[in-house]
Amino acid sequence: MIALLKRYPRLAATLPYVSLGEFPTPVQRLECLGKAIGVEQLYIKRDDISGRLYGGNKVRKLEFLLGDALSRNYKGVLTFGGVGSNHALATAIYARQLGLKCISVLVNQPNACSVRRNILLSHHYGAELHLVPTKLDSPLTMPLVRATKTARVLRQRLSDGHPPLVIPAGGSSPTGVIGFVNAALELEEQVKKGGIPEPDYIYVAAGTMGTAAGLTLGLRATGLKTRVVSIRVTGRDFVNAPAMLALLDRTNALLSAKDSGFPRYDFSAGDIGIRDEFYGRQYALYTPEGMAAVALIGEKEGIKLDGTYTGKALAAIIRDAPEQGLRGKVVLFWNTLNSRDFSDVLGGMDYRDLPRGFRRYFEEDVQPLDRRDEKTSCV
Ligand SMILES: *Cc1c(COP(=O)(O)O)cnc(C)c1O
Repeated sequence: MIALLKRYPRLAATLPYVSLGEFPTPVQRLECLGKAIGVEQLYIKRDDISGRLYGGNKVRKLEFLLGDALSRNYKGVLTFGGVGSNHALATAIYARQLGLKCISVLVNQPNACSVRRNILLSHHYGAELHLVPTKLDSPLTMPLVRATKTARVLRQRLSDGHPPLVIPAGGSSPTGVIGFVNAALELEEQVKKGGIPEPDYIYVAAGTMGTAAGLTLGLRATGLKTRVVSIRVTGRDFVNAPAMLALLDRTNALLSAKDSGFPRYDFSAGDIGIRDEFYGRQYALYTPEGMAAVALIGEKEGIKLDGTYTGKALAAIIRDAPEQGLRGKVVLFWNTLNSRDFSDVLGGMDYRDLPRGFRRYFEEDVQPLDRRDEKTSCV
């Protein structure tokens, strides 16, 4: 049983949950990388292998989100994201596993190999894909507003008469965030068992803040002193302290309502460490610093990260090591990126089978910093 439901048994009775992933995910020391950047006690949380079908941070959220959908007898879910959204793909894969239909309303983002892969895979796993036509360089906010409108239209139009459960971008509703409250309790168990010394910091990419908010709330419910450092990778409209406080409060209220034994906490701006300086110019636009981090961990540890999320988060650790004095600290890098390889599935796919609007991602070049292995094709 997962840590949260073990510790708060009443939640097991009141909170819909469906097991999708494999927990606990391992914690491992990154000795070579740690030495190279001057953080002797550098560790990684392997949420990249959180699920057999698909890993990454969305699995923890989906266990509660899709559990909720099932318990309320929904036949399908509708969600949002950038066109290369890992969340949309994870939702497609696990919805299908549970016999739920998945509709994804997607907005444009800078092109990358990972964007191509995710579109193809979402299609392969049976998601109904809609692209909201927006200009490439427009900020993410307006497209999402438009996507929400599209969703309303779609809800009424669904042919089978069943409206889908709407899941917000990134799965970061209070229900989804609970997955990361559990993750913090899981980490506490690993600390108690000696798998990792008590971390001083967790560094994690923040896109819709569900991961960071869940960890922050969950850590408060443990005895750990660990602080969450949230590396903003989307626009300020999506990641900011007031919005994080609101999400913390709503998630806390939900848990306390489902189990009065779950304490009600007070959070203030001081509990939230959002870092803005690794974002770059745009969501999903890679930065030189982020890509240098991706290259370094690949070289030292053989671990694959990405330019949109995890590279930017690791870049923060690398820069903070000397500047913030991380040398003597225990630093945990939370790997939020799926590492399951889909080349077997992708090999047989043709982008021309996709809805028309998506094809240009395969006909136009990827962004300049998306370096490719010369020998293998992008997809
Ligand atoms: C979605 C995602 C994030 C962001 O998580 P949030 O909970 O939305 O802040 C980080 N890393 C990866 C790889 C993701 O797919």
